[in-house]
Amino acid sequence: MGQGVAVDGGFIINTNPATGEVVSKVKCSTAEEIDKVIKAANEAQETWALKSPSERIAFLKKGLKEVDRQADKLVEWMILEMGKPIAEAKEELEGTVDKDEFLDILEKALEPQVYGSSTIIRDPFGVVAVLSPWNFPVDEILLLALPALASGNTVIIKPSEVVPETGACLVKALQTALPPNVIQVVQGDGVVGAHIVGSPDIHMVAMTGSSATGRKIIEMAAPQMKRVVLEMGGKDPMIVFDDADMDKAAHDAVKYSLSNTGQVCCSIERIYVAESIYDEFQTLTTKYAAEYKVGNGMDPANTVGPMVSQGQRNIVREQVKDAVAKGAKLLHQSEVPEHVEGSSFHPVTVLADATESMDVFTKETFGPVVAMAKFDGSEAEAIRLANKTEYGLGSSIYTKDLEKARRVARRIGAGQVGINCYAIEAMDIACPWVGHKHSGYGFHSGVDGFHQFSIPKSIVMVDPSA
Ligand code: NAD
Repeated sequence: MGQGVAVDGGFIINTNPATGEVVSKVKCSTAEEIDKVIKAANEAQETWALKSPSERIAFLKKGLKEVDRQADKLVEWMILEMGKPIAEAKEELEGTVDKDEFLDILEKALEPQVYGSSTIIRDPFGVVAVLSPWNFPVDEILLLALPALASGNTVIIKPSEVVPETGACLVKALQTALPPNVIQVVQGDGVVGAHIVGSPDIHMVAMTGSSATGRKIIEMAAPQMKRVVLEMGGKDPMIVFDDADMDKAAHDAVKYSLSNTGQVCCSIERIYVAESIYDEFQTLTTKYAAEYKVGNGMDPANTVGPMVSQGQRNIVREQVKDAVAKGAKLLHQSEVPEHVEGSSFHPVTVLADATESMDVFTKETFGPVVAMAKFDGSEAEAIRLANKTEYGLGSSIYTKDLEKARRVARRIGAGQVGINCYAIEAMDIACPWVGHKHSGYGFHSGVDGFHQFSIPKSIVMVDPSA
């Protein structure tokens, strides 16, 4: 997903998507600077790896306290750099620093396991590159960096070129609590990312971003057999059966199509509604969508911000145009603030009668669009439609028949299935975050996810004197 961020004369021209104003110019790291950072990370890793997981986690907890102290600054940068509405920026920050339980599970996951004469310990890989996206500019860094660091790796963060100041501010806060060079930051776009991935002195690459970038990273990492964890895009289905709590389903359909201005990997993107309730569902979703107000994220009255860039806004605008030209019904389109040069607002849009011939039902729609279609209401058709995608991140099923919901959930090809809920909002902290198909290659969080950042080693000991 190219962001259309201007890099000029070796600087990222960092622009506010609500106002078009340049908020800062951030120097891109040169190849020489990156190589120096990689060397320092390898040197620091030797001593960091000697500490126990508990010692490392104590450092990380201290680091998160410092992040908390920088919360106001981080919230402001998020709004200025990528336009997140202030309430959502604060929510992201609160979730980010409240990681004690996450770190406790992580600590347990790293404990040695003893089986008779054999002890399984976990070795770090070495230096892990964390390449992050712009849509959750703080949390998406930490979800990969914390397990990498706790496992004894040192890390190099490359924030998305859209949010360089947020990334730098976060890393600086963590650095105050950690030994030198255990965490470092480099800046730049995909060119810088590719240089890091290609370095033989980087031992693992953990990226969250688009499936297109993920594919490039796999290709680049393959000749060196480098470990990769990739969290990528989605086209998440929501199934609404005729016995669903319709008000709740319509409310959630709108809320989770629009949150973060629709720029979420696991946004609800395809809503399939049983035909017997389709008309009423359209009325309810339109009512809920009308409650949202588009505007600058700095103003708490605005619940949908600008899209991240004009380029991304134009892609979504074209998807809506294509859908309407092919017969989709435009149920609602909100007002947007008056256009100023460089701003990138897109109206809250509700579409009915979407079909698979429309981009809005097949490609990732990273914008504030609610898109629905009717289906015959059967389990078989629900499963067929939900799985008709190359992606497999989240999904949701709304019905009062919990047995039916479980049957359908087992057959949906996705890492997370919410039954009468939006999975990520209600899921236990112990769950891994997983993408099936093109949505993920490796994964993070939960014991399964934490284990991806280290490699097991069996030490088998026989005492010759025994
Ligand atoms: P992106 O693919 O454009 O960029 C992701 C990161 O990779 C950035 O830091 C970028 O600079 C870097 N990069 C780009 N090209 C590279 C290359 N050739 N080599 C190395 N690094 C390169 O993604 P984005 O637009 O920043 O983020 C939005 C995407 O992220 C969406 O597709 C969204 O679904 C996905 N996402 C997924 C999850 C998840 O958990 N599955 C979470 C958040 C976002």
